[in-house]
Amino acid sequence: MAAHQEKKFAQERKHKNIQNDTKASQGQWGRAWEVDWFSLASILFLLMFAPLIVYYFIMSCDQYQCSLTDPLLDLLTGNKHLSDIWNKTPMLTYRAAGIYSLWVTFQVVLYVFIPDFCHKFLPGYVGGVQEGAVTPAGVVNKYQINGLQAWIITHVLWFANASFFHFFSPTIIFDNWIPLLWCANILGYAVSTFAMIKGYFFPTNAKDCKFTGNFFYDYMMGIEFNPRIGKWFDFKLFFNGRPGIVAWTLINLSFAAKQQELYAEVTNSMILVNVLQGLYVLDFFWNEAWYLKTIDICHDHFGWYLGWGDCVWLPYLYTLQGLYLVYHPVQLCTAHAIGILMLGLLGYYIFRMTNHQKDLFRRTNGNCRIWGKKPEYIECSYVSVDGTKYYSKLMTSGFWGWARHFNYTGDLMGSLAYCLACGFEHILPYFYIVYMTILLTHRCIRDEHRCCSKYGKDWKRYTAAVPYRLLPRIF
Ligand code: NDP
Repeated sequence: MAAHQEKKFAQERKHKNIQNDTKASQGQWGRAWEVDWFSLASILFLLMFAPLIVYYFIMSCDQYQCSLTDPLLDLLTGNKHLSDIWNKTPMLTYRAAGIYSLWVTFQVVLYVFIPDFCHKFLPGYVGGVQEGAVTPAGVVNKYQINGLQAWIITHVLWFANASFFHFFSPTIIFDNWIPLLWCANILGYAVSTFAMIKGYFFPTNAKDCKFTGNFFYDYMMGIEFNPRIGKWFDFKLFFNGRPGIVAWTLINLSFAAKQQELYAEVTNSMILVNVLQGLYVLDFFWNEAWYLKTIDICHDHFGWYLGWGDCVWLPYLYTLQGLYLVYHPVQLCTAHAIGILMLGLLGYYIFRMTNHQKDLFRRTNGNCRIWGKKPEYIECSYVSVDGTKYYSKLMTSGFWGWARHFNYTGDLMGSLAYCLACGFEHILPYFYIVYMTILLTHRCIRDEHRCCSKYGKDWKRYTAAVPYRLLPRIF
């Protein structure tokens, strides 16, 4: 809808094709990319080491009770060789390959073949066919929003199996965790490589492809903006929002089941991790239509960063707290547990309200109330690849007046709560907050770089009005 409105305004004001003077000052949105040495070094580092980092974390739990230092000490002191660790690592199995193929196929079927019915009976839920934002080439894609339904069906089947059918044990995910890691890697690399080839030879929309001329950059950050197969199979929405995120809550449930099997109880820390992360996942699916307007879908191209990241990084590293608690069951005192719950809920509230305020503001084109008042904003304009001039608004009210990315601040508070639920014995569960801080700070900078090139001097007016990024008066 917002995309439509933006387009309508552009037409109404009859400013088409008057962009030449504007281009000079604000670059061409979505295409002004140079691969600097720092980006290239980071990309090469990630391509080489990200799979090893994931392996190291998971292996540490499997062989060293989640200690991150012991494997290194063993190797440095010559106590063990790399081959000793590798030889103890479970390999790919037919069983894991079967489970994984079935899982991905099932999610494809739910995504492609079952149109959304949730929006027909859930008040307030936006599902079914929805429009994304305007792409740099001026395209508005349509998406089948049925993630909530996929999540519900999957979880109903999971609970039906655990309670009645007993076709497989709920610990199945934990029991095959490392063999499944190899399957996830195979899919992650396969889909990223396919996306690269597709970008060169049969792109869905050639005008929305971005070639930087650097092979590694293109492989990592993607060439195609919205690769699709057929009318509805959208790579970005599927890989971002299905196999990994639907699995997130199942993985946590499987870890809880393993705790129950090993210790005959599920600790309150495990329940907290399941509840807080479950809320985050459910929020994602409830707001899937809103998600079409986030950076992942609106601005990122589809390459290894999203393809491999969604298949491997997300399900394996976002679930480290639950995995850790299988090896170290932590029973928190009531005050500690309540403190964490409060921090998690407050973080969630800030995250959701900030996102909601922007969504409401953009959907109504500023004709709404934020904290009981008409929102204040800065009018801005930008130019798409085909030369059309568009108008937009940057809100300076509500949480968006406190900081330019207060939604990230809420997200970070929630992330910290998951980590704190695991106590203070090991650093492994704290990886998530460290990673999220780096990810979201980098995202802030990346987004602002893009917005600056998109809005030019209007963006500078906005940053003068809202000078802080994450924390008022601090950063
Ligand atoms: P935002 O939702 O903050 O979107 C940024 C975009 O919003 C900008 O590019 C700009 O787009 C527009 N915008 C910026 N400032 C304003 C303003 N003042 N008024 C109106 N519009 C504005 O970022 P993300 O897409 O990164 O994040 C969405 C959520 O997802 C966040 O809450 C984040 O925490 C979460 N997230 C979680 C991750 C995880 O792994 N758990 C990873 C990434 C995000 P435009 O071009 O339209 O002007």
